[in-house]
Amino acid sequence: MPLIVQKYGGTSVGDLERIANVARKVAARKDEGNEIVVVVSAMAGETDRLLDLAKKIHPVPNEREVDVLVSTGEQVTVALLAITLESMGYKAKSYCGWQIPLQTDSSFGAARVTDVKKEAVLADLRNGTIVIVAGFQGIDADGNITTLGRGGSDTSAVAVAAGLKADRCEIFTDVDGVYTTDPNITSKARKIKAIAYEEMLEMASLGAKVLYIRAVEFAMRHRVPVVVRSSFNDNDGTLLTEENPEMEKESVSAVTCNMKEAKITLSGVADQPGVASQIFAPLAAANIVVDMIIQNSSADGKADLTFTVPEADLTKALEICRDIKNRLGASDLVGCNDIAKVSIIGLGMRSHAGVASTMFTALADEGINIQMISTSEIKISCVIQKKYAELAVRTLHDTFGLEKSRS
Ligand code: ASP
Ligand code: MG
Repeated sequence: MPLIVQKYGGTSVGDLERIANVARKVAARKDEGNEIVVVVSAMAGETDRLLDLAKKIHPVPNEREVDVLVSTGEQVTVALLAITLESMGYKAKSYCGWQIPLQTDSSFGAARVTDVKKEAVLADLRNGTIVIVAGFQGIDADGNITTLGRGGSDTSAVAVAAGLKADRCEIFTDVDGVYTTDPNITSKARKIKAIAYEEMLEMASLGAKVLYIRAVEFAMRHRVPVVVRSSFNDNDGTLLTEENPEMEKESVSAVTCNMKEAKITLSGVADQPGVASQIFAPLAAANIVVDMIIQNSSADGKADLTFTVPEADLTKALEICRDIKNRLGASDLVGCNDIAKVSIIGLGMRSHAGVASTMFTALADEGINIQMISTSEIKISCVIQKKYAELAVRTLHDTFGLEKSRS
């Protein structure tokens, strides 16, 4: 019998009526002759509500206790879904993370899955029971409840699918699948039928919001076939899978845009060994993730450095950089959040020549200035002024013919 793991998010289980709707979908798949494990999130808004309660007591509440608190959101929905399925005449049983157990490390609020035991769940499945698993939570080696970070139920679903060696993992969400670009920016955006793990990982880290990075990483590492599809219709969705020769035909598969970054320029630092490490070590120590970095050296032995950080960290990063500027005797420090990072992604880039120059020409033809460039084997990113972001996305989507590709 095929084993399918399905995941439903907070909106899909937002009230009893919606839970009944999920139960009907699950029951239909069970009736088709599948073994089913369902992973659910807390009811929409519940995790935020619980976090707010803790913050009313203390601005930085004890992190172990926060995980005990927020994990209750999912405990409610697994039980409600099991009760619903039982009342429809199906055998159903709920599991909290610790009951599986879904083993994690001890980083409360951002725990990583280390192992998923399969014996108990498989025994239930084999006697015809629908197993319902609380997303977002696990247990560490000391028996503490942990949570996997916001949006963590996607990761739970993929981890459970990997642990049980499921035939596929279906993530039900409020969009139809993965698109060639954000459909809110251009109506020409197309749903992608199949995308390689590597491409999806780039897309997730470059600003596409369909799937969380950690869930994609997990799927890629364990080669779990994942389908992203809508919980509101029966459309096919997008399959996340191994790369295949079909995928290489197009040079570019998707265009993404991230408006949530900022850039910092530190000019006139000495061009000598150790300078870059003196700049980036304090930023790393403050947990600030630096993305693109560009360094130019000039004839007078000085260098200018420009790099990007998350917009939310700009103030903190500038504070640290002011210190660095004084210490290194740099001539100038400027921060700017009027930027957008527009990227093209595609496995086909490895075998198609001239993709970068096509991108730069297309942007130039629209009068868009490129401030920074970074590349990997399967992506090219350009930092441009924020006001041109949507124009750039539409232009690149047209230039690389994404309207008619792979759908
Ligand atoms: N309930 C958790 C959250 O809101 C996990 C999830 O929804 O995936 O972040
Ligand atoms: Mg959620």
